[in-house]
Amino acid sequence: MGPELIENMRKQAQKFGTEFKAGVITEVDLTERPFKIIAGKDAYEAQALIVAAGASARLLGLPNERELIGHGVSTCATCDGYFFRGKPIAVVGGGDSAMEEANFLSRYASRVYLIHRRSEFRASKIMIDRARANEKVEFVTPAIVEDILAPNGLVEGVRLRNPDSSEHREIALDGVFVAIGHDPNTTAYKGKLDMDANGYLIPTHGSLTRIPGVFVAGDVQDHRYRQAVTAAGSGCMAALDAEKFLEEHNHQ
Ligand code: NAP
Repeated sequence: MGPELIENMRKQAQKFGTEFKAGVITEVDLTERPFKIIAGKDAYEAQALIVAAGASARLLGLPNERELIGHGVSTCATCDGYFFRGKPIAVVGGGDSAMEEANFLSRYASRVYLIHRRSEFRASKIMIDRARANEKVEFVTPAIVEDILAPNGLVEGVRLRNPDSSEHREIALDGVFVAIGHDPNTTAYKGKLDMDANGYLIPTHGSLTRIPGVFVAGDVQDHRYRQAVTAAGSGCMAALDAEKFLEEHNHQ
């Protein structure tokens, strides 16, 4: 399981002398080495920095949504799809992720409601066509999720509002997969590292950035694959690059 894997990795890193500090990075100074990393009232200095801050899945903003994660609400089809074998579920969103997740989840679920707030989709035609051709996937548009129904702490359905007619409708289901995009956790690096229009960091090559000694790894620089195994691989690349950099600059 993921949490156990994380715990094992943490222990392994500790064994080799890694110190763990928790905190939210509020500011960085990358203009000279040592780099300065500020996390609220704590400040750190580093000769090399690997930015691996990940990306956060966007949520709908419903009051009970966050507490229902793990109880029927999910932001990761590949992680949680299996738990909904033979059950009806919904995917919320209208981009490629939503289409991809709807198709993927139809392997397990008895029915997949694809719920989107508009009748037009942001997703590419081929992805929409694939979802439309899937007989387990039912498009529900335009529909805004107003409430996730979970009277006993487990998802039992959704209440939807049609924004055109203002009519309400409830659908009974066991799972809600929110697929409305991700935001990379890169606010502190704005104007300091190259990023695309959506805030994802852009390496110059491998894990390297324009600033010698600053490396990037994982979802913070990858909106395409977003898998544990690809993130771990890029983490390995960044670790090798950082080690080489420190060696070359005589910092052991
Ligand atoms: P996206 O393209 O940004 O689409 C997000 C969708 O969620 C949009 O349809 C948006 O609706 C909807 N949405 C956003 N906020 C919402 C809210 N608060 N309530 C309800 N709906 C909301 O994100 P994505 O689908 O994750 O894709 C991200 C990038 O990865 C894209 O470039 C995509 O092409 C790429 N991708 C590619 C593949 C593939 O090719 N296999 C697979 C996955 C992702 P509106 O349209 O109304 O704004």
